[in-house]
Amino acid sequence: MEKDFLIIGAGLTGLTTAFALKQKGFSVAVLEKNDYVGGQIRTLAERGFLFESGPNTGVISSIEVSDLFDELQPDCEVEFAKPEAESRRIWKDGKFHPLPNGLWGGITTPLFTFSDKFRILGEPFRAKGTNPDESVASLAARRLGKSFVDYAVNPFLSGIYAGDPNMLITRHALPKLYNLEQNYGSFIGGSIAKAKEKKAALKNGEKTFKKGIFSIKSGLSRLPEALAKRIGSENVFLSVNGISILPKDENHSWITIFAENGEKKTLQSQHVVFTVGAYALPDLMPFIDEAIMRKITNIRYAPIVQAAVGIDDRDRLDFKAFGGLVSSKDGEDVLGILFPSACFDGRAPEKGALFSFFMGGIQRPDIFDRDDAQLENIVVREFHRMLKFPAAKNPDFIRLFRHKHAIPQYEISTDERLEAVSIAESRFSGLHILGNLRDGIGMANRMEQGLRFAEKMIRQI
Ligand SMILES: Cc1cc2nc3c(=O)[nH]c(=O)nc-3n(C[C@H](O)[C@H](O)[C@H](O)COP(=O)(O)OP(=O)(O)OC[C@H]3O[C@@H](n4cnc5c(N)ncnc54)[C@H](O)[C@@H]3O)c2cc1C
Repeated sequence: MEKDFLIIGAGLTGLTTAFALKQKGFSVAVLEKNDYVGGQIRTLAERGFLFESGPNTGVISSIEVSDLFDELQPDCEVEFAKPEAESRRIWKDGKFHPLPNGLWGGITTPLFTFSDKFRILGEPFRAKGTNPDESVASLAARRLGKSFVDYAVNPFLSGIYAGDPNMLITRHALPKLYNLEQNYGSFIGGSIAKAKEKKAALKNGEKTFKKGIFSIKSGLSRLPEALAKRIGSENVFLSVNGISILPKDENHSWITIFAENGEKKTLQSQHVVFTVGAYALPDLMPFIDEAIMRKITNIRYAPIVQAAVGIDDRDRLDFKAFGGLVSSKDGEDVLGILFPSACFDGRAPEKGALFSFFMGGIQRPDIFDRDDAQLENIVVREFHRMLKFPAAKNPDFIRLFRHKHAIPQYEISTDERLEAVSIAESRFSGLHILGNLRDGIGMANRMEQGLRFAEKMIRQI
C-alpha cells in the first residue's frame, strides 16, 4: 500500500485531517486501535435515552467549522442548543444560582461580593498584565476580583478543563481572553470593540454563519461516522495493533507495519501524522530522542468520570438550563451536571430527563480510582442534594464512563512542549504531530486543527 499521508488515530482530529487532505486530492490511510471511530466521542442509546460517554456539546465559532458541517450533510446534521442553554447555574452555599447575564441579576446575585461587584466598574481602567505566563486565576483576580475567580472563572474552568485555575496559563488555555486584555486593555472595553469590529466586517461583506452551542441530531457519534464515510472504509483501518513506524531516509518513504485483525500489513507514505494523546506517543515514536520526547509528553491530563443519569419521570422539576457548574474551591465530588434533555430533543422520554454528571478532574484525581458502587453513591447523593429530587425518587439508570486522559492541561510546560514538537518535526521530513497536546482542547479546535493542517500542506507541497 502506498499513500501520501498516514494518519494515526481516528478521533475527531485524525478524521478531520484525513477528510480535509482527501478533499485536497491527497491519498490517505487512518490507523485506529479501537474497533470504532470517534475516539473520545461516543453516543449510546438505552431505554429511550440518547446519551454521550464523552463530550456532550461543542461550540461553533469559526466559519471553517460551520462550512465543514455543511459539507457533511445529510449524514451529520447540526443541532443547535435551545435558548435554555444560555442559562447556566453555579453552585454556592448548598444551592445552584443562575449566573447573571443582566445588570439587575448582576447586582442582586449572591455569587459575588458587594465590593467585587462595585470594583468591576473599574475593570476598563485597570492596567494590563505584563506576565505572559500569568495563570487564569491571577489574571481574573487582578481584573475582576477574587469572588469572580471563585464563582465564575473557577466553575467555568471545571466545565471546560476540569482544571486548576492557578495552574492553567491564560495565554495557552484561554487565548481569546488573554488577547482581549493584551490587544484592547480590558475585557469589557475589548468585548465592545470586538463587537463593533464584527459589525463593520459584516457591513464589508464578511460571510456570516450561525454560531453557538451544538450537538448532532441522533448524537455526536454521527460526526466522526460521517467523516469516516467520506474518507472511505477502505482507507480507515480499525482494531489495529502492533504499529511499527520507520522514518524515511533521503530516498525512501516512511514504512509502517501493523496488524489489522491479526493480518500483517505494510504501508508506505510520504507523511505520517500523529493525532493521539501525548501519553501514546513514546511507544509509537521510538525514533525520537528521549530528551525531546520527555518534553513533548510533559503534560498533565485531567482524569474524569462521566455518569449518564436518566429518570423516566422528572416529576415537574424544572431543568431549563445548560447545567450547573461547581467551583473546585468548595471541595465537592462533582465538577458539574449538564442537562442535555433541556437543550436538545430526543435525549430522554417525554416526561423524563437526562443528566450528565462530571466527577474528578485535576484537583480530585482520587475520584477516578473509586469503584463503581462508590461512584453511583455519589451520583445518587447529588441527585437528591444538588438536583433536589425527593428522597423517594432515584435515577432509573446510571451509566459510568471513565476517561483517564480526558482533558490535557495547558500549564507552564506548554512552551517547552511546543518547542520540542517543532524540533522533532524539523528532524524528520514528513513528520507531523497534531492532536490535543496543542492548539486547543475542544471539538471545534480539533476540527480547525485538521482543516488548517490540510490547507498548510496544499501550500507547501
Ligand atoms: C469526558 C469528556 C468531556 C468532554 N467535553 C467536551 C465538551 O463539552 N466540548 C468539547 O468541545 N470538547 C469536549 N471534550 C474534548 C473532546 O472530546 C476532544 O477535544 C476530542 O474528542 C479529541 O479528539 P482527538 O481526535 O484529538 O483525540 P481522541 O478522541 O483521543 O482520538 C485519538 C484516537 O487515537 C487512538 N489511538 C491512541 N493510541 C493509538 C495507537 N497506539 N494506535 C492507533 N490508534 C491510537 C485512540 O483510540 C483515539 O481513537 C471532552 C472530552 C472528554 C473526555
